[in-house]
Amino acid sequence: MDTSDKGFSTKLIHGGDFQDELGSAVTPIYQTSTFSFKNVEHGANLFSGEGQGYIYTRLGNPTIEALESKLAQLENGFGGIALSSGMAAVTTVYSAFLRQGDHMISSRSVYGPSRGVMETIFAGFGITSSYVDTSDLEEIKAAHRPNSKVLYLESPSNPTIELVDIRAASEWAHKNGMIVVVDNTFCSPVLQKPLDLGADVVLHSVTKFINGHADIVGGALVAKREDHAKLLKKTMAMMGGNMDPHQAYMVQRGVKTLEIRVLRAQKNAALIAEYLENHEEVDWVMYPGLASFPQKELVQKQMSGPGAMMSFGLKGGFEAGVTLMNHVKLALLAVSLGGVETLIQHPASMTHAGLSREARTEAGITDNLVRFSVGIENVEDLIDDLEQALEKVGALKAV
Ligand SMILES: *Cc1c(COP(=O)(O)O)cnc(C)c1O
Repeated sequence: MDTSDKGFSTKLIHGGDFQDELGSAVTPIYQTSTFSFKNVEHGANLFSGEGQGYIYTRLGNPTIEALESKLAQLENGFGGIALSSGMAAVTTVYSAFLRQGDHMISSRSVYGPSRGVMETIFAGFGITSSYVDTSDLEEIKAAHRPNSKVLYLESPSNPTIELVDIRAASEWAHKNGMIVVVDNTFCSPVLQKPLDLGADVVLHSVTKFINGHADIVGGALVAKREDHAKLLKKTMAMMGGNMDPHQAYMVQRGVKTLEIRVLRAQKNAALIAEYLENHEEVDWVMYPGLASFPQKELVQKQMSGPGAMMSFGLKGGFEAGVTLMNHVKLALLAVSLGGVETLIQHPASMTHAGLSREARTEAGITDNLVRFSVGIENVEDLIDDLEQALEKVGALKAV
C-alpha cells in the first residue's frame, strides 16, 4: 500500500511493506545473499539498472528495502539506507561527503566514537575537524574555514542535553555551501524531524529508540535530496556496511511501536525529572521538559516533546554517583539508551573512567553526573527504586 499521504502512525505500521504473492501480513525475511536471474538478458538488464529486481543483498534486498522505505517516510526524506550499525552510518556519511583537504565542524559533546573515528582514521586521510559548542551559532560561525564542507550536529547532545537550533544552523551552513547532517538518535522522528528543519541528512543509531528492544545493533541514514540519497547508497554498498535481512526484520518489528514507546517513556521521564528536581540529594536535573531547562524555547520550536533522556547531578559528587549505581535494582547499569527498559549510567566511574578529570570536564561530564534513559516500566516502581538508592546516597553523609 502507498502510505506516502498517510499519517505518521500509519506509516509506522504499514510504510514500505513489501507485498509478496502469498499476501504475508508482514514483510518476510529474505535471508539470502544472492538472487538468481531468469536468463542472461534478465541479469544484464538488472546490472545496467534498466530492469527492476534484486542482484545481491549488499546492493539491495526486499526485507532491507522495506525498512529503508519506511524510515525515509518517517523522516520526510527522499531515500533511506539501513546499515549494520550507527557507526557504519557515521563512517558512510563521512566517506560520502568528505575528501582529502576538507574540514568538518561538529559539536564538542558529539557521540564520542563519531569524534574518535574522525580524529584517527579520517584525519589520516587528510580531513580536519573542529569541535565547538554548537548550542551557540556564533561558535559554529567562528569555526568556519574556506574548506568547511560538513556541519555534523547532534541535538540534544549526550549526556549534557544541549540543543542546537537546527533551522538557524542549517540556513547559515547552506549559505556557506555546507552539507548539514543531524544525528537524530536521541529524539527519533516521533519528537524531531531534522529534514523539515532544513538539514540534508538524518542519521540514526537504530540500536536505540527506533528498534527499541535492546536486541540488535543497527544504523540508518535518510537524505532529503535524491542525489545525496544515491551517493550515500553507493558509498554504503562500496564500503560494505549494509544491514542484514534478519536485522532489518527485527527493526521492522520494533519500529512499529516507536510512537507509543516514546510517548510512554516520555510520560515516565517527565514525572521522574520532577521527582529528582525536588529530591534533597539531587543538585540539578537537565531534562528538556522542566521549567528550569535553559533552552526550553528551542524545545518548543523544534521538538514535539521533551523525550525520555535526562541527566542529573548528585550533591555528593563522585562517591554519591558510585553509591547510587551500586544500589539501584530495577534500572540496569548499562550504556546504550532508548529501549523499553530503564538504563542508568555514571560516566565518571563507568564509560569515561579512563579519561582525566580535565578531559571529562571538557566534554561536560562532571563527577556527579548521572545519565538516565527512562523506559516504559511502571513509573512508581522506577521512582521507588531511585528513592531507596538515594537513601543510601544520603546515608553517606552520616558516616
Ligand atoms: C549509540 C549511538 C551512536 C552509534 O551507534 P551504534 O549503533 O552503537 O553503532 C551514534 N550516535 C548516537 C547519538 C548514539 O547514541
